[in-house]
Amino acid sequence: MNNIFRTELWAPLIDILFPERCLACSTGLRGRQRIAYCATCLQDVGLLQEPFCSKCGKPFEQANGESHLCGYCLKNGWYFKQARAVVRYQPPVTEAVKMFKYNGRMHALATFAALSQQYFQHQPQEEPDLIVPVPLHAKRLRQRGFNQALILCRKTFPAWRDKIDPHILERNFWTQPQTGLTGAERRKNVRNAFRVRRPEKIENKKILLVDDVFTTGATVNECARILVKSQAAEVAVFTFARAID
Ligand SMILES: [Zn+2]
Ligand SMILES: [Zn+2]
Repeated sequence: MNNIFRTELWAPLIDILFPERCLACSTGLRGRQRIAYCATCLQDVGLLQEPFCSKCGKPFEQANGESHLCGYCLKNGWYFKQARAVVRYQPPVTEAVKMFKYNGRMHALATFAALSQQYFQHQPQEEPDLIVPVPLHAKRLRQRGFNQALILCRKTFPAWRDKIDPHILERNFWTQPQTGLTGAERRKNVRNAFRVRRPEKIENKKILLVDDVFTTGATVNECARILVKSQAAEVAVFTFARAID
């Protein structure tokens, strides 16, 4: 094959013409980085690590000690077995996630995937039977053109690509955007918002439910509720980012 078509020969030239920039502050980076944050901004990317709540994954402020249940999980139940996230949903991650989700800018995805791989080195993800992205309503999917949760599944779990099934769950109705709602309002807003389209496919299956951000957990909990109701063996939740109040 003619060498001119080998992209690796072009890569240095592409780097000169379009040097990769930090996702947060636009400082030029040296060469192509797996994680496109400069050293300064990377310090603010809070990679989540133990100790955290063994159920909902909320990190504890003290840096050492065992993981245990948080105050919320001691009093309240969830339908999922556990929820885990890679980074805190705070600047500079917030902007990158919004650019990805609302503006369709895919350039941050490689960084999200690389951060996730780094996280899995310390917190290995148990292999599920099925990976289910939280669905968008068909109307919103048409507007946006893609489901960010499905794209995250593919990029984060490339080795388990054939376990990903975006047709298991469906969003029944158009829910009001969750932004600005309290926890109780969010739970009410998503109540019965989802439907299991293929109950026969999830019976006795270990499911990994994936979304971009865990805010109050109302959405993933509602999805987990109907999956468990349809006889899934268990539901674990993975989100890229986690809002910490
Ligand atoms: Zn930066
Ligand atoms: Zn908890």
